[in-house]
Amino acid sequence: MTLEMAVLASGSSGNAIYLADGQTALLIDAGLSGKEIERRMNLIERSMAGVDALLLTHEHGDHIKGAGVLSRRYNLPVYATEGTWLAGGEKLGPLKPEHKKLVRENWELGKLQITSFPIPHDAREPVGYIISDGQVKVGLATDIGYITAEISQCLQGMDCLLLEANHDIDLLREGSYPGSLKRRIRGEGGHLSNEETARLLPDILESSSCCCPVVLLSHLSAENNRPELAYLTVKNSLQAAGYRVGSDVILKCAPRNEPGELYRLSGRIEEAGLP
Ligand SMILES: [Zn+2]
Ligand SMILES: [Zn+2]
Repeated sequence: MTLEMAVLASGSSGNAIYLADGQTALLIDAGLSGKEIERRMNLIERSMAGVDALLLTHEHGDHIKGAGVLSRRYNLPVYATEGTWLAGGEKLGPLKPEHKKLVRENWELGKLQITSFPIPHDAREPVGYIISDGQVKVGLATDIGYITAEISQCLQGMDCLLLEANHDIDLLREGSYPGSLKRRIRGEGGHLSNEETARLLPDILESSSCCCPVVLLSHLSAENNRPELAYLTVKNSLQAAGYRVGSDVILKCAPRNEPGELYRLSGRIEEAGLP
């Protein structure tokens, strides 16, 4: 079996990830307008009509903006934690009662096995996800105030990992954001820096059984980060731990404003070359 995965958008202006196993297709977060998500799906030569369910990580607008519209338009169930429903349910607009699904710690959609785990962030009950077809494991974790032991444990051994690298600490400190916002981003309910991600990655990749896991640095700040800086900070840390970046591990920054490559993940990573 092969998992297909593509990042449609990543960052504070919107997040959406497409993941499918040939039988079941999911969208994890829908933080762009419904129309824009449809457009980006078409760019990776997939259709929203083929999606079976939406999974939400938390209620912030950059993660749920289009979820209500897409649920209504395509008759899609939406999975969210109780806290996300409480804090964000109204923003989604009216949904059919049968479309309001609760995220569990472990459940299955088709043959996809899904695990959720809590994340510290200034939302009501935010989560990250691990999604597997039984062979390949994909981990998604962004909007992380700080790395907990549970996050570090859950993300061990992924074949593909979308992990936040939100800001460079110096760029944030010297940048134009007001002090209160800088404190929020750096705080326990904020976002993970390049440096924190760089420290975490060598440990959690160690237990990967995959010959060459893919790491996509995600939710990069447009204001307080640069893709080349995030990449270099993490690359240096991986190299210092003995990884050959490019052959032992594929490292890239998730795209912000256009869909990225469609990856085919089957133990051996192949890029489909789309778009
Ligand atoms: Zn976000
Ligand atoms: Zn958030």
